[in-house]
Amino acid sequence: MKTKSISGVLFDLDQTLIDFLKMKRYSCKAAIDAMIKSGLVIKKKKAERILFELYDRHGIEDPLIFQRFLAKVNRKIDYPLLAKAIAAYRKAQRTVLQPYPNARQTLSKLKRKGIKLGVVSDASRIKAHVRLAEMDLADFFEVIIALEDTGKTKPHPAPFRKAIQKLRIPAEKILFVGDNPHRDIAGAKAVGMKTAWAKYGHPAKYFGSKTEAKGRPKPDYTLRRFAQLNKIFR
Ligand SMILES: [Mg+2]
Repeated sequence: MKTKSISGVLFDLDQTLIDFLKMKRYSCKAAIDAMIKSGLVIKKKKAERILFELYDRHGIEDPLIFQRFLAKVNRKIDYPLLAKAIAAYRKAQRTVLQPYPNARQTLSKLKRKGIKLGVVSDASRIKAHVRLAEMDLADFFEVIIALEDTGKTKPHPAPFRKAIQKLRIPAEKILFVGDNPHRDIAGAKAVGMKTAWAKYGHPAKYFGSKTEAKGRPKPDYTLRRFAQLNKIFR
């Protein structure tokens, strides 16, 4: 492997550095349990299905999700119930949101090898920075590109180019690590970076394997665990 030529690694955030969907699923279950315990009459499974349908429609980061949920299943938004849901969600989130196993150790090793590290996320600046700080990962990265930096989301070349410019390393010496074949891998390839597909974080395991198996761009490397990055740089 010609990895001696790589001097920078850029990471996608959700499902690449941290298992956001695992947190989401766990926290939503906790919120539903809390609402049922406080008097909401609904079957757990049905509640989960409705909640995730709402996420599908309004986006996985929708800040009003429990308002929408209660408006739908309870006809009106009962604020004490809403508060119970939000409180349970936040409490669960704090206990579950973690980087992938061995992420910190692997990032430390890369840094000790003199490799520059960065993040390119479609999340807003505040979300990206807070999430990294919560995970104790922020100090590893010299460059953090978030939505506001270019106003464009991956696979648009703008966020990738901005990261290249800030990292001050030519594209062909950068490895991009991401879970989404079309947004991360195709986008990074298009600007000339090397690519590693974070297969371990790919949402197929949450949403079934129907997700765009066809026409998947071919990465230079496929990672089944985060720590496999070490092998690339050995
Ligand atoms: Mg991702």
